[in-house]
Amino acid sequence: MATVIWLHGGACNGNTQSFLNAEEPTVCDLVTDFGVEILYHHSISMEFGERARKVLEGALNGNPPLDIFVLEGTVILGPDGTGRYDMFMGRPMKDWVWDMAHAAQYVVALGDCACWGGIPATAPNPSDSRGLQFLKDKRNGFLGPDFRSKAGLPVINIPGCPAHPDWITQVLVAVASGRADDIALDELQRPQTFFSTFTQTGCTRAQYHEWKEPVEEFGQGTRKGCLFYEQGCRGPMTHSPCNRILWNHQSSKTRAGMPCLGCTEPQFPFFDLMPGTVFKTQKVLGALPKDLPLGTDPVTYAMHATVARMAAPKWAKEDMFVV
Ligand code: SF4
Ligand code: SF4
Repeated sequence: MATVIWLHGGACNGNTQSFLNAEEPTVCDLVTDFGVEILYHHSISMEFGERARKVLEGALNGNPPLDIFVLEGTVILGPDGTGRYDMFMGRPMKDWVWDMAHAAQYVVALGDCACWGGIPATAPNPSDSRGLQFLKDKRNGFLGPDFRSKAGLPVINIPGCPAHPDWITQVLVAVASGRADDIALDELQRPQTFFSTFTQTGCTRAQYHEWKEPVEEFGQGTRKGCLFYEQGCRGPMTHSPCNRILWNHQSSKTRAGMPCLGCTEPQFPFFDLMPGTVFKTQKVLGALPKDLPLGTDPVTYAMHATVARMAAPKWAKEDMFVV
């Protein structure tokens, strides 16, 4: 049994849409079979107005005790630190967020915006947005670096733009069934079970990455070839299980011919670092990708790439489609 309050800051509601599409378990399963009691959620609660306020204030006063606080979206501090760009029930949303985070046993940041600020916090960050415990890859989010929830854990970050429904529900189930302490987190406070491998793991194009065979033009993504060399795919440097835990249980961006944009990493959407490079690979000397797979030595990689391209077998160069 676990009570949940879910609030919405500066964001598009994509994580709620993703959550409502959960299949294993479904949102209904969470309630009927796993004892998750959603006290308040901005999109699915029956309560609004004064009745919603009573629910929220009740949770802050321990009536009933709050187990899980989920934030979707950024914490908005603007203008001038007042938070008045984002008002909720007569108060700046940032004040509700602060109080809920300090009342809950566990705090979950859901989606890039809540984890690191995401698109709203990208420079010039006009709403003065923050993630709950991070701002991009720095630990200077709204709650501060030393924040610990009542159960003694830092914010559990479930990034993604949006997060996959299974990443969300499985974390809620772990907490509701008393297994929260088993959720090992990485250095960015993401559950390791989802974020220790790369998007490239399980990608059906991986053999073309090995032989350095590119998809040459955007829009030819269903043709064979790797999307890294010409389309800016960030699969080799992005921690996500998108090709292990498939979307809609049947596909992924790269399977559909869409380059990975690296949405589970704190620097997403990378505009500050590499303006104008979505769907475009940054090149060194006009040929080799500048943004190499994590852990590779640039010189060795350059030699390997040259040899692999020269040695690529006939099948790797044939014009075919991949799924
Ligand atoms: S770079 Fe992208 S398309 Fe190529 S193998 Fe890796 S994940 Fe797949
Ligand atoms: S493939 Fe990349 S951009 Fe797409 S959801 Fe997965 S991590 Fe995000």
